[in-house]
Amino acid sequence: MTTTLVLTLVVGCVRLSNSQDFSPKLGIPIECNLQEDCFIMHYVDRDPTTESKDFACGRQTYDGHKGIDFAIADFAVMRKGVPVLAAAEGTVLRVRDGVPDALVDTEAEKKAVSGQECGNGIVIDHGEGWETQYCHLRQGSIVVKPGMKVDRGTVLGMVGSSGLASFPHVHLSLRHQDIVIDPFGGVSNNSGCDTKKQKSLWQESLAYTSTGLIRAGFATQPPTQSELWSGEYQDTQLSGNIPAILFWVHAYGVLQGDVEKWQLISPKGEVVIDRNNILDKSYRSWVSYSGTRKIIPGTWQGKYDLWRDNKLIFEVQKNVIVR
Ligand SMILES: [Zn+2]
Repeated sequence: MTTTLVLTLVVGCVRLSNSQDFSPKLGIPIECNLQEDCFIMHYVDRDPTTESKDFACGRQTYDGHKGIDFAIADFAVMRKGVPVLAAAEGTVLRVRDGVPDALVDTEAEKKAVSGQECGNGIVIDHGEGWETQYCHLRQGSIVVKPGMKVDRGTVLGMVGSSGLASFPHVHLSLRHQDIVIDPFGGVSNNSGCDTKKQKSLWQESLAYTSTGLIRAGFATQPPTQSELWSGEYQDTQLSGNIPAILFWVHAYGVLQGDVEKWQLISPKGEVVIDRNNILDKSYRSWVSYSGTRKIIPGTWQGKYDLWRDNKLIFEVQKNVIVR
């Protein structure tokens, strides 16, 4: 009797460990160069309470977030088309398309996508209880059908902003037997942020980059976050009777205490703005600007650095021609 019980337990353990060892090695689900033309906006929430924490104990996630958001700069990039890729070999299980791309902001807009939070999405079965899900694809872009076999890197569709999305991105969820697994943490390690326990499931190592530039440019009035996600203010020339010239920066993952260093240089080479700003709060996404009303024609230059603990986090420079 005892022998049988022990045997059963051993067999049970072996099967479980086999199925976990089989865990797919994942490629990134988007065709772009991270930190150059795309970035990770949100990680998996690893805090079981109503607080939130990413795998590196950072704040670049939100309560209950069950995947990783690979984002692109704006709708202009989205319209050009950035492919969503299968993260591993498998069979397409489910597909939904037909949900419009939008920037969900208000409660009414959230309600309107209730039941379709994933927007245009795909679920891929990788065997042994492993699944990946891809959300918010561009309306009408999905090129796979249920039953189709895919490899790691097969194009599934294009990055969009359908469903419950407030910026253009693809949300990737990994599940093992219906349990969400954080690819940065690994199997059986779904809470907390103890780096010693983490066993990444990415095929290639992915650096944790929780702060960076989304886009920068010039405007003649203060830009809003949704205007920037929409792709407005791409101008390299400003003309006419403009009220002001503003150099703006759209960034992610800024932290309280970070120092912004702004410079605006006039066509005469005069530094008309040279100021530091210390952030009094942390923001997962952040729009900031600095400018002048004293406008002269010619090429203006904007410079912005973000510093943390005397270390440069990122810098950006842009020119605009005023006619
Ligand atoms: Zn997400």
